[in-house]
Amino acid sequence: PSSKLPDIGNSIFSVMSGLANEHKAINLSQGFPDFNCPEPLMQLVTKYMHEGFNQYAPMPGMPQLRGKISLKTEKVYDYLPNPDTEITVTSGATEALNAAITAVVKPGVEVIVLEPCYDSYVPAIRLCGGTPIFVPLTLPDFSVDWDLVKKCISSRTRLIIINTPHNPTGAVMTKQDLDTLASITDGTDILVISDEVYEHMVFDGQQHNSVLQHPALRERSFVISSFGKTYHTTGWKIGYAVAPAPLTTELRKMHQFITFCSVTPLQLAIADFMDNEAHYQELPDFYQTKRDYFCEQLKGSRLEILPAAGTYFQLAKYDNISDEYDLDFAKRLTTETGVAAIPVSAFYHNKTDNKYLRFCFAKSEDALRAAGEKLSRI
Ligand code: PMP
Ligand code: GLN
Repeated sequence: PSSKLPDIGNSIFSVMSGLANEHKAINLSQGFPDFNCPEPLMQLVTKYMHEGFNQYAPMPGMPQLRGKISLKTEKVYDYLPNPDTEITVTSGATEALNAAITAVVKPGVEVIVLEPCYDSYVPAIRLCGGTPIFVPLTLPDFSVDWDLVKKCISSRTRLIIINTPHNPTGAVMTKQDLDTLASITDGTDILVISDEVYEHMVFDGQQHNSVLQHPALRERSFVISSFGKTYHTTGWKIGYAVAPAPLTTELRKMHQFITFCSVTPLQLAIADFMDNEAHYQELPDFYQTKRDYFCEQLKGSRLEILPAAGTYFQLAKYDNISDEYDLDFAKRLTTETGVAAIPVSAFYHNKTDNKYLRFCFAKSEDALRAAGEKLSRI
């Protein structure tokens, strides 16, 4: 049969982690922590398994977890979504993104995508017969050119996807950005997906600006997050979407036929563990310390560090080391230097090469120090 995604091969995360494993390189490529999640959280999972919570959860998610998400949203963003009609637990943010895109995009519809962007958005749009309209973020700080966004809106535009804090650049949106998006979409039927999986990783005293805090914007938005990032459990694949009831109804129609529901004992364990507010309150400091430690290790290298306001990724420019294409350079860095990173061209539909690599610093100090030593020798 002819391929429905003819241009798509293995994702860059599989490619670089595979190469890192093969060459026993320090893996700062795919975004995941090399340390464990909190012990009490694991104990809660086995407790619930032994108590017999091993069958299907309700389709929208365990009520306990939706309740806690609702309360946390009120605490952090001063907005109380209805857990019965406005919150859906999904198998990772990836599923929430897919369900939201699938719920909205039909053949002929255009979707504004800001580039560079996370790799799952565009294939999902294309599989629905939609057309991504790419708007480049503006270098050097990867800010949004809202005038350009406005120019790219047509009568076929149905959706705009934003991501803050931003993977791979670490850029964060300001309140002004959200206000502008609200005014651009005012009076239209354009919906918004706001990918906020790194909501608790914003540094240097800055605050995360969530669409959930913005009454006009949240009326037209799916806001998506992931417990994988917040609780160091990327392998559990538990995420969620918050959206107004009519949008949630449509998202759930997709969710019920993609996975139907997500893992029961994991949902219950997370629901209990969410009472530990200190965990996410301490996350900005925790990751800022890692970012600063990693940058300190790179002081002696010829890599040029870019400002990183959020996420657990650090961009570095290598153009005074090599003029190779970033994918080739990243592969050589893995096989010859012993450090794996992600080439940023992978986040552009046309493989734009600005000579940036993305390093994940959700790693032990030992790993970050060893990587810094190796990178300082090139
Ligand atoms: N969006 C962004 C921006 C991400 O970085 C990730 C994780 N790599 C996801 C979505 C997917 O999250 P999950 O692992 O929960 O599916
Ligand atoms: N979100 C992770 C990253 O950006 C990877 C997720 C994946 O492997 N698909 O590195």
